[in-house]
Amino acid sequence: MSAQDSQTHFGFATVSGREKVRRVMGVFSSVAEKYDIMNDLMSAGLHRLWKRRMINCTEARAGALALDVAAGSGDIAIGLLRKMGPTGRVILTDLNGPMLAEGARRVIDAGFLPGRADCVQADGTRLPFPDDTFDVVTIAFGIRNFLDIEAGLAEFRRVLKPGGQFVCLEFSHPVLPLLQVAYDAYSFNAIPALGEWVTGDRESYQYLVESIRRFPDQGRFSKLIRDAGFELVRHSNMTGGIVALHRGYKV
Ligand code: SAM
Repeated sequence: MSAQDSQTHFGFATVSGREKVRRVMGVFSSVAEKYDIMNDLMSAGLHRLWKRRMINCTEARAGALALDVAAGSGDIAIGLLRKMGPTGRVILTDLNGPMLAEGARRVIDAGFLPGRADCVQADGTRLPFPDDTFDVVTIAFGIRNFLDIEAGLAEFRRVLKPGGQFVCLEFSHPVLPLLQVAYDAYSFNAIPALGEWVTGDRESYQYLVESIRRFPDQGRFSKLIRDAGFELVRHSNMTGGIVALHRGYKV
């Protein structure tokens, strides 16, 4: 049975794979316009620091070609382009047209024109690029939404050049018990209410919170990255493990 036909989860609900993809597309089409302001409100601006640290840790050098998967807002692509200087190039991919359009608009507003930043609408589990293409593959807050996380990781490794680096920023699991209690109370109560108030869409933010809880913790996700064939896999926690930065290499 294909991943599309088998049962999976959408937040805490059990649905078919096909239905999950449909609902994830619906979530991001619904929130695309208010995506940035909601990120600032929900994280009190912390997402900017998390992303800055991700860019700092990414080995994107002058002349490199980077792929940012699930690029959405364009934040990571813009950070990489600034870091790489005038000879660096980034391809932004996202499954969702409205999110990719938002990313494309923001990349152009930041002064990066096609040729340096190009957008390709694609599923991260079926990337339309040859093997060994990119020096760096990044994904921020995207892989949690994939129907098949293992297939995504295998694709990222396939399109990386030997020696290339994979960097993933994702919500994770707080490592301090008291923080976990406070974070649960905040996320299950405040975030859906905030989503309803700002975007009129409570369900999408309920999904966000539930999908974070369902996502593998730091150790389990590191194992998936290793099982996909990456080497030198390691992670670092940010904000007490609310977010983790994962890295690995294709050797
Ligand atoms: N990376 C951006 C950032 O950090 O601001 C956007 C993150 S947003 C939370 C998640 C993105 O993942 C959305 O733009 C969504 O369309 C995209 N996405 C979800 N499933 C995907 C898939 N299978 N392939 C590619 N992109 C996907």
